[in-house]
Amino acid sequence: MKELIVFLFMFAVMGMQATAQTPTPAPLRIRTANPTTAKPTLPTIVTPTPIVAPTISPNAAKTIPGLSYQIKVRFLPVGSGDGSIVASVDKKWCDLALAEINAIFKPTGLRFVFGGLDAPRLDDLYNLDVPPQHPSYATGPETFRQKLAEKFPKELVVFVRRYLGNEKGQEKFYKAFHYSAVEADYVLAEPRSEPWALAHEFGHFFGLPHTFGDGLMGEIVAKPYPARVGYVARVLAGAIERGDVTEGNALQFLDGDGIDDTPPDAGPPIFQPNDKAGEEIGPGSPAEIIIPVTVKRSPLGFARKVNYVLRPDKRNVMSYFSQNERPHLSREQAQRVYDIVNKGTRHRLVTGQ
Ligand SMILES: [Zn+2]
Repeated sequence: MKELIVFLFMFAVMGMQATAQTPTPAPLRIRTANPTTAKPTLPTIVTPTPIVAPTISPNAAKTIPGLSYQIKVRFLPVGSGDGSIVASVDKKWCDLALAEINAIFKPTGLRFVFGGLDAPRLDDLYNLDVPPQHPSYATGPETFRQKLAEKFPKELVVFVRRYLGNEKGQEKFYKAFHYSAVEADYVLAEPRSEPWALAHEFGHFFGLPHTFGDGLMGEIVAKPYPARVGYVARVLAGAIERGDVTEGNALQFLDGDGIDDTPPDAGPPIFQPNDKAGEEIGPGSPAEIIIPVTVKRSPLGFARKVNYVLRPDKRNVMSYFSQNERPHLSREQAQRVYDIVNKGTRHRLVTGQ
């Protein structure tokens, strides 16, 4: 009923505007409930029901139809500094990692098999143990790794990092030492992390982006927790006010990967209950979070409050939510991985071309 009254009021005002005879009609004034208020405040329309993000993407349980491909994975342990310490990794670790990756990637039709655990010449691997954050990453080791990986065109090369667990600060960031990208011809792995961390890098290798937007999550995590939800709300309001998205479709602005069947995701920090650095947010945190958005622009100058319910797929392997059980790929993610091997830039892995 409340909505009906508001709409009747809106139509009455629109009617008055349409029939106004004066060439410059007086600006629209809204009477407020409190007549003593000097400056009238615009009424706010609250949408009766929240706008909910698409439901969690289903695990792509079925293998996509098409050819299945077998891909050899070669593990290369790297040396550090002067090359005196080489990553300790054995075939058992490689087999465990591949078993986990095969389980997660089963819907893609790809099957990964052990292709070797050795270095052609140890000298080649010196100084490769440099974290991706290192300034020389873009030139020295990056080029080095790339050139070495190119020696194995029919294999997926995984450089295995040395574990530095007892060295100062290592525990805090060693998980960040995984790396891959669709433009790199290798994966960089840290052998102490959960097996699905490597599956995540395989996802990048086969062209899958994060489910969240990297830039937006960087902005969110830089803010103290209480301000994070409000920040995302302002981002959404801005996108609606600029006309980048419609009000009904605004959560698509949080779609980090452009993949239809992975729901919008702003990353874990928006779920973080406090500001403990490095705290992991996993499936145990709430399934959804409400983002109350106030949109300033509307046809009549009203402010509108819209509640958006954000439900990221926390078990998606390309999310940043920590996992306590095996994560999954969505069906479209699986299709993209298959496509990049079947007819895209990773076709070399099955043909050597
Ligand atoms: Zn990643």
